[in-house]
Amino acid sequence: MHAIGVDIGGTKIAAGVVDEDGTLLAKTRRDTSPDDAASIDRAIADVYAELSASYEIGAMGLAAAGFVAADRSGVLFAPNIAWRDYPLRDNVAALIDDDVRIVVENDANAAGWAEFRFGAARDVDDMLMLTVGTGLGGAIVVSGELVRGAWGVAAEIGHMRVVPGGHYCGCGHEGCWEQYASGSALVRDAQAQAVVDPAAAGRLLELAGGDAEKITGPHVTKAAQEGDPLAVRLLADLGRWLGEGSASVAALLDPALIVVGGGVASAGELLLAPARKGFAEQLSARGHRPEAAIVVAAMGNDAGMVGAADLARV
Ligand SMILES: [Zn+2]
Repeated sequence: MHAIGVDIGGTKIAAGVVDEDGTLLAKTRRDTSPDDAASIDRAIADVYAELSASYEIGAMGLAAAGFVAADRSGVLFAPNIAWRDYPLRDNVAALIDDDVRIVVENDANAAGWAEFRFGAARDVDDMLMLTVGTGLGGAIVVSGELVRGAWGVAAEIGHMRVVPGGHYCGCGHEGCWEQYASGSALVRDAQAQAVVDPAAAGRLLELAGGDAEKITGPHVTKAAQEGDPLAVRLLADLGRWLGEGSASVAALLDPALIVVGGGVASAGELLLAPARKGFAEQLSARGHRPEAAIVVAAMGNDAGMVGAADLARV
């Protein structure tokens, strides 16, 4: 059975037709406004109409960046889209003539499920996926099952506290893991370094047109790939936070594999080598237990779509 997966971002949605092997058969996208939830409903109905004109569709999965209700019908809360106790499934269904099955999933869970079913973690039963983008998303698979928790909001690992009294987080607390291991943290630290020590940040400032506030994550990755010492160190710091935090997660869950995805994962070994080192240094009972490998994700930007489609089938 073919299913549609929809990845709902702040300013655009991407949708695709996915077959049972996880192959994307067709793709489309629409621009949307994060402040206008009804426009997102309409855009989803619109991509459904476009894709279902050419393919027989049995289900549609919606990957949403927010806290998803346990019955997978809607979004309890989203930090970056105007969703508060929002009945996304029913609103979209009301705009579609077909009686298609619609399921809402957390976006990081959808991406993790795609890696588990078809990507880097397809050969293991227990895995942790870390999506290092603007924030730090998590997905947990235990004994082949996606962990959703009692109320649907499990695996919000980016909001585990790792530094008491640390950086303020958008969730309202301080010292959350994603304030140290995310693209936003990388950019914050790079911009601060460029102000404190412009000479050391010469290459980063050059890439940003001389304006510290215009330094981006891709600038840091590019400079690091050229061997720029500051950029290499910034990515290594992020990687160390990823690895040390993963050791705490391993104390709880004992995953066979840790998959690192999201935009920052394009830095590859510049990020993963320090992550493995931090993980090893912080892992309890090291030397007396098998150790989870830390690998880069395989599904790229399509993971949310593919995972949402696959989860809608079951
Ligand atoms: Zn937080």
